[in-house]
Amino acid sequence: MKKVALVFVLAVFVPSLVLAWLAVRSLRDQQFVLERQQSLLYQGVADSVAREAANLIAEHQREFARQVEALLANDKPIDVANSFDDRIREHWLLADVGFVVSLEGQVYSPLLFERGRPQARQFRLENDRFLCSRESVQVYWNSPKGPINLSPADDKKSETDEGSSAQSPTANSPAFSSAVGKYSKEQKVARNVEPQQTQQTVDKQAYSKVAPSEAEFRQLVGDSTEGTVARFLQNKLNLMFWYRSPRDPQLVFGALINLPRLTESLQNLVKGDAESLRGEICVALLDDNARPVAALPWKNQGNWKRPFVATEIGEALPHWESAVYLLNPAKLSRSAAALKLTLGLLIALLVLAIGVGGWLIVLDLKRQLTLARQKTDFVSNVSHELKTPLTSIRMFSELLADGRVTDKEKQRSYFNIITAETARLTRLINNVLDFSRLERSEKKYNITKCDLLYAVRETVGTYRPHLEAGGFKLECDLPASPLFVNGDRDALAQIVVNLLSNAEKYSGERKEARVEVRQQSQPLAHIEVRVLDRGLGVPKGCEEKIFEQFYRAHDSLSSGIQGSGLGLTLARQIARAHGGDVTYEPRQGGGSCFVLRLPASPNSTANERE
Ligand code: ADP
Repeated sequence: MKKVALVFVLAVFVPSLVLAWLAVRSLRDQQFVLERQQSLLYQGVADSVAREAANLIAEHQREFARQVEALLANDKPIDVANSFDDRIREHWLLADVGFVVSLEGQVYSPLLFERGRPQARQFRLENDRFLCSRESVQVYWNSPKGPINLSPADDKKSETDEGSSAQSPTANSPAFSSAVGKYSKEQKVARNVEPQQTQQTVDKQAYSKVAPSEAEFRQLVGDSTEGTVARFLQNKLNLMFWYRSPRDPQLVFGALINLPRLTESLQNLVKGDAESLRGEICVALLDDNARPVAALPWKNQGNWKRPFVATEIGEALPHWESAVYLLNPAKLSRSAAALKLTLGLLIALLVLAIGVGGWLIVLDLKRQLTLARQKTDFVSNVSHELKTPLTSIRMFSELLADGRVTDKEKQRSYFNIITAETARLTRLINNVLDFSRLERSEKKYNITKCDLLYAVRETVGTYRPHLEAGGFKLECDLPASPLFVNGDRDALAQIVVNLLSNAEKYSGERKEARVEVRQQSQPLAHIEVRVLDRGLGVPKGCEEKIFEQFYRAHDSLSSGIQGSGLGLTLARQIARAHGGDVTYEPRQGGGSCFVLRLPASPNSTANERE
């Protein structure tokens, strides 16, 4: 049993506890897992808005090139260059200022003192030195060959980390890196927004992928034909498109973009994605100050700088972000809590089921082991019980057969012993056979209406001589009138014989037995047969166990009393099959009292006798 318990603990209980512990631990990560799933979903939305914005800018860039080509198609490049500011603004609404600069550093347009164009004058003042490649400035640079960062430096709003030497993921264009090799020092630039998800998961994504580089305009142009340049002047983003025509590659045509108009064209991008996830999220396009230029649905409160997820638009619009906000952030933690609770309950239920199941298995195993042990005991008990009467029968019959016993009195006594021992054998064998029939549910009862009193009187009558020969005093207290029950008379007689035989076996010093029969009306009309003795009594705690199969409260070794442990089992089973029972109660003044209760037949007063 110890081995079984050990195997059970090691193979079932400990692994289930470990599994439960692991499951409970994984519960704690539920919110994180849910957030991760949501972030992947919404990151896709933010990415697609950012991609579309970048595509739209690229489309504008191509449109600008087409406009330049259209102007050059009709006039000489130098003529177009001189009046480019006016012409491009006339044909293309996105242009705020049109400029032309030669690769040698000569500015053709706009004119520095153009009348009525303070904007053009300011542009020249702010950008001349940079466009003529006389000065390196911090710019965000992009070309169709891929974005190239020269040397990220202190942005107007960047929180720089001077000691860091991390490589920018975009500083790997071979065409450009050689030209600007001296600007290889890079710095981390903080993003405008702090996405909740990227902050918790991948820390480095809290830094911007778009970093400014310090360069001259000539360096940026390199051998490319078009591109965008963005720079911050007085905290204001200046976005410029430039283009070199094959008609005159020495001239770089460019335009300062009108940001409000560009923003207008970008606003439409926010619609499509918001439609599909209506009610769940707000999709917004944030400018370089993290202010929304478009949002759908419009989110009144809240911190625009703390989106759920966000994606940077890129070098064309540095520090602009497409951001996704949860409209109902509590919903996520609520569903995580609900999921946690459900899974927690399920785990508890499963562990409980394993525990209870295991406990039931152990109980059953214990019962099976006890039964197996009892069966072994039973075989040795029965063999012993068979052997004792057989030995005396053989001994006395041999004595009689040899004719060595001549005394008539002795002969009769020997015959009596042989008869008694044969009866004992018959009882034992009957019990064993009946038990196996009951076990296989093959026992058939011949139920008739019979007088129980008569059956008891007859059984006691048959048993009395044997008891008295053994020195027993047997008293009977039986009523005069018959008491009817519906039952199998032989089976009922067998109960009485088993009880009397036990009274004899467990009698101890005081060889007294008593049989009482009473009719009772409470709670229902029933008849009680009591078999009482002044013997050893049943030890405390065994009052019910003695009715279990093979169970013996007084085992053969210590008490010297032979038995199979089946007599009371059979008695109870037969009584229960008749709607009654056999119970034990200690007798006042010492000894045992076994009570057979059977329901009285409805018309038990009739003068019927079987
Ligand atoms: P057994 O063949 O061992 O007598 P039983 O089923 O008849 O089997 O009885 C089961 C156990 O009940 C006995 O082993 C004994 O310990 C106890 N018992 C039965 N009858 C009596 C009695 N009259 N007095 C004391 N103990 C009894």
